[in-house]
Amino acid sequence: MKTYKIVHVEQKELDSVVCNMCGKIVSKNRHGYIADSLSVEKTWSYESSWDGETHSFDLCMDCYRNLINAFTVKIARSTEP
Ligand SMILES: [Zn+2]
Repeated sequence: MKTYKIVHVEQKELDSVVCNMCGKIVSKNRHGYIADSLSVEKTWSYESSWDGETHSFDLCMDCYRNLINAFTVKIARSTEP
């Protein structure tokens, strides 16, 4: 027979996102959802300028829009069916 006890486990929960470009805080709305943003994590290869470093950043929607509008070659767009 097994007996169980109630334990409370501490866990991390995303509370807000800070845009690395403009510094805006993307926080939860009244429904508890954080507005969508872009999160990038890149580990550079050993032959790159950053030799094995992992870089990560987040962009709010406004900064993402400004970034992709600055591209010479426009992004590919699609929507899920
Ligand atoms: Zn931003």
